[in-house]
Amino acid sequence: MSVDVKKKETLDSIFHAQGYTDYKWIDPAKIVVAQWVRMKCMFGCGEYGRGGACPPNTPSVAECERFFNEYTQAVILHFEGKMDQPEHRHAWSAKINTRLIKLEREVFLAGCERAFLLFMDSCCFCKECTGDRRTCTTPRMARPSPEAMAVDVYSTVGRFGFPISVRTACDQKMDRYAFLMVH
Ligand code: SF4
Repeated sequence: MSVDVKKKETLDSIFHAQGYTDYKWIDPAKIVVAQWVRMKCMFGCGEYGRGGACPPNTPSVAECERFFNEYTQAVILHFEGKMDQPEHRHAWSAKINTRLIKLEREVFLAGCERAFLLFMDSCCFCKECTGDRRTCTTPRMARPSPEAMAVDVYSTVGRFGFPISVRTACDQKMDRYAFLMVH
């Protein structure tokens, strides 16, 4: 059973009260999960094996697919960022992710027991990640990003009319996306 209209209105009020307006309700069946995303994590990303909420600390691609199949409603939230210095990104992401985890909690308390958030970037809560779920400093708050759950973010957000493109320089505008799995 999906979230009814009244519940959706309640959740929209929560989103607005917390300052979120740039988001869309989506059908999770349209989330694209792909093996190539995991390959990019394994080869080419410096956080592979170093992020407590990154692969290989996340489920297999097949398990990620199963996870998304268990939902009928979700929300994609859009964030824009432009950094003068690439090293500022960590603090920017940590601040947004800290707020997002509070949103997940509010949605859970509104009666959505399956509420599960995928951060808009790597966890970023600590300056130095322990790289292991068992030694994570904030295990109750750390969540994976959509990419860490093998989501092809480019194809998925494009299906819903959100902007996204490959950046060719680190001072260009970033479009980042958090996914809130609701029910
Ligand atoms: S909370 Fe800290 S240790 Fe845990 S995954 Fe996030 S950055 Fe790593």
